[in-house]
Amino acid sequence: MKKYTPVIGLEIHAQLKTKSKMFCSCPNNAEAGSPNTYICPVCLGHPGTFPVINKEAVISVLKAGKALNCSLRDESRFDRKNYFYPDLPKGYQISQDEKPFCYDGYLEVGDRKIRINRIHLEEDTGRIVHNEKEKESLIDFNRSGVPLMELVTEPDIRSAEEARGFAKELQLILRYLGVSEANMNQGQMRVEVNISLCKENGEFGTKVEIKNLNSFRTVYNATEYEIKRQREVLERGELVVQETRGWHDQREETFSQRAKENAHDYRYFPEPDLPPLFLNESPFKKDGIEIGVELPKEKRNRFKEEYGVDKENEIEVFIDNREVADYFEETVQLALKKINKNEAKKEVGKIAKNYLFSEVLGMLNGGLVNETKINPLKFADFVVLVYNKKISSKIAKIVIKEMFESGKDASVVIQEKGLSEISDEGEIEKVVDEVITESQPAIKEYKEGKIEVLQFLIGKVMAKTKGKASPDQANKILKQKLN
Ligand code: ADP
Ligand code: ZN
Ligand code: MG
Repeated sequence: MKKYTPVIGLEIHAQLKTKSKMFCSCPNNAEAGSPNTYICPVCLGHPGTFPVINKEAVISVLKAGKALNCSLRDESRFDRKNYFYPDLPKGYQISQDEKPFCYDGYLEVGDRKIRINRIHLEEDTGRIVHNEKEKESLIDFNRSGVPLMELVTEPDIRSAEEARGFAKELQLILRYLGVSEANMNQGQMRVEVNISLCKENGEFGTKVEIKNLNSFRTVYNATEYEIKRQREVLERGELVVQETRGWHDQREETFSQRAKENAHDYRYFPEPDLPPLFLNESPFKKDGIEIGVELPKEKRNRFKEEYGVDKENEIEVFIDNREVADYFEETVQLALKKINKNEAKKEVGKIAKNYLFSEVLGMLNGGLVNETKINPLKFADFVVLVYNKKISSKIAKIVIKEMFESGKDASVVIQEKGLSEISDEGEIEKVVDEVITESQPAIKEYKEGKIEVLQFLIGKVMAKTKGKASPDQANKILKQKLN
């Protein structure tokens, strides 16, 4: 069987979350209003109207370009992309052709660098809603003129997993930058996957484009499906046809939409109603634009190094959920202040992380961490008690559950439920004596050299004290008595 390597490039659109639309002052929240309420003559494309460039949108794209390691062009411009479609009343879309704002960047996915060819800015079109039952199609222009960023990668991706990984990482970056919500299920981020198979001799194959993928799952599944389909075509000795395919969600397969005989001729030309943009100059000043936030990759490294979080799935919970990460970091900071020992950061971080994942998030059951009754200050008190070994892990679980239910402080719970550790040696001795009396067969085994029995005896002491004895102390006293 011949070997083929998948060659994949992505084209990703993301809606920018600016206050107003790209070229008019209509509010940019298409989803909020009923159809055709956020519209004006400019975004409807009436003749005689003039577009005005939204500065915030331009700066958002430049920021994204910086975060994605791109070069930013000194002089740029908008172009007209001409085509006919009912959701595009002007008959052209204002986009960028030869002079995109950003070019030659890259994004690291795992340990691979995926090169970015370009990032440009354009306006979105309207939305057609097909009503099968009434046999009618309706057009909503709320979305027309919404600023859209388009990113095109080089064909550097080699697997479905990497394609999904790229889209996921891009979504995170756009969210961290605050330039787009990039929710795929709301159409705020849309992915197109270009796929071909490369033969062993390195020759690139014919590419197929899959359009309208609206979840990470479908990006992965459609890519996997298409790799398999193309391999089968080639193994049958046939040729892959250059075409655009769609993804059928129920049948879980790609299907042919239209053959791409010749490249589209959009007859691009410079948009005559807009001036060229000098991005070095006011009001853009590209060199002065700051990313201004910690990017996901930096945060991953920091969480590993500072708090010793080493499980990938745990790090990703922090990376995906900013409120969980903030809650955790605030807790650790408050706990460190209390014990006044900054070197304990990793250890305290580990305790906080463990109880956060195994108890708090579990009890929240998908709820928001900011809504738990255990605020960071209360959680920090609790973490300090565990750190100082004032409560055993068994008691800690009882305490955190009660804190979650009632919102009481850890110390109050411990007092009310009589859970504080028995530190009185006499009291522990009494229990140890009881255990020794009750466990004569085990004691005999111990004296015959079976030292594992000690663990069993400590367990009994812990059970009798309901976990309130310190295991270290129980161990010490037991050994003294037995030897
Ligand atoms: P087109 O002219 O058909 O639009 P482009 O060169 O603009 O093609 O590339 C569009 C997308 O297709 C890019 O993401 C690019 O990385 C990807 N691409 C280009 N060539 C291939 C190929 N042989 N196999 C897979 N993807 C490719
Ligand atoms: Zn408008
Ligand atoms: Mg192209």
